[in-house]
Amino acid sequence: MEQAERDEEARKERAITEARRDDQPDPVWHDGVGYCAECEAENTARARVGRGRCIDCQQRYERDRKRGLA
Ligand SMILES: [Zn+2]
Repeated sequence: MEQAERDEEARKERAITEARRDDQPDPVWHDGVGYCAECEAENTARARVGRGRCIDCQQRYERDRKRGLA
């Protein structure tokens, strides 16, 4: 397989994984410390398991989504 095809496959896989992950943004990493993608609070424990939002932002997001705002 060509490198470009492999990249495209990997990109699709990531897109699918991310969609399944309930619209998580990617965590932000700086020097081994994870940060919330929305408020930039330190969020390493959640970032390690692929959660891009801190607990506060996630709760707000879910609340907004239930109201149809997100
Ligand atoms: Zn946050």
